[in-house]
Amino acid sequence: MLVLMQSGATESEIAQVEERICELGFTPHTMPGKTATAIGITGNSGPLEPAMFAGLAGIARVIAVTQPFKLVSREVKQDDTVIDFGDASIGGAELALMAGPCSVESRDQIMQAAIAAKAAGAKFLRGGAFKPRTSPYAFQGLKEEGLKLLAEARDATGLRVVTEVKDTETLEMVADYADVLQVGARNMQNYSLLEALGNIRQPVLLKRGMSATIKEWLMCAEYVVARGNRQVILCERGLRTFETMTRNTMDVGAIPLVKHLSHLPVVADPSHGIGIAQHVTPLALGCVAAGADGLIIEMHPDPSRALSDGDQSLTPEGFSDLVQKVERVAAAVGRRVVKADDEWKGAS
Ligand code: PEP
Ligand code: MN
Repeated sequence: MLVLMQSGATESEIAQVEERICELGFTPHTMPGKTATAIGITGNSGPLEPAMFAGLAGIARVIAVTQPFKLVSREVKQDDTVIDFGDASIGGAELALMAGPCSVESRDQIMQAAIAAKAAGAKFLRGGAFKPRTSPYAFQGLKEEGLKLLAEARDATGLRVVTEVKDTETLEMVADYADVLQVGARNMQNYSLLEALGNIRQPVLLKRGMSATIKEWLMCAEYVVARGNRQVILCERGLRTFETMTRNTMDVGAIPLVKHLSHLPVVADPSHGIGIAQHVTPLALGCVAAGADGLIIEMHPDPSRALSDGDQSLTPEGFSDLVQKVERVAAAVGRRVVKADDEWKGAS
């Protein structure tokens, strides 16, 4: 259920509606929009009667929400959610570019990656410090040391740091260093983690589980938003299918569909989506054409020596080539790439 206020509704009229929702034993979620404020309602087990709001001023309409995901749905909020980072944003006209290695491996490696990412035009640096690996014997990440190196790279370049949080135990530590907290595909339905992320106010990049339906994915985003953290970015990273020639099957069609169903930004990860460096750029172009709000790309200064995901990692030159091609496709679909700083030459 959703109460849509009139465009001129006053703060006290909004407060009275919120109060009525609380009196009914439900939770109001007030969302100021471009033209009017909407108040989403959660906690009700069945449909609510518009009569429950009788006598209150400033209400335009009381609308039933048909989707099981409520607060993340377009029914509740028509305007796109734009996550603002000052001189960068995700979900607006600007296409967000995120790049960096799968894992942080050393100071040299992450610095070189950050400098290359920035020089090519990215505004976000990705890199895992806590790595959920299929094998317990594989490189698990540098953990807090990796987070410190990411923070150093941010200080040196001004890039925002996107890094994975693997569990609730390390959330506070990771949140101290990260600008965007990534939830990996394997953790999409880790409900304790999602609830904990809902209680903080840092943006969350929620990857789609490798066999999750779109509804399940959006319900996971709802977990975070329902707790009060509205800064959720969805990330399509490919699904496990019968196909073995590609690492995953990128669900490009999910991008326009999810953007239709939800107001949250959708970022594409073609690196995990296909798993083969050579094919990452064409797939990235397809994702941008399909309406992705950004790209997260694995890029390593020397992919052949990467400790994880080298096969799908672009070189710095490959990433720079990707950005140049992406700029043209972005322009064709009404988006633009705003380079981090055209004057910036990188550290020597
Ligand atoms: C990653 O981003 O390196 C990663 C592990 O991704 P995913 O969770 O999508 O597999
Ligand atoms: Mn990876």
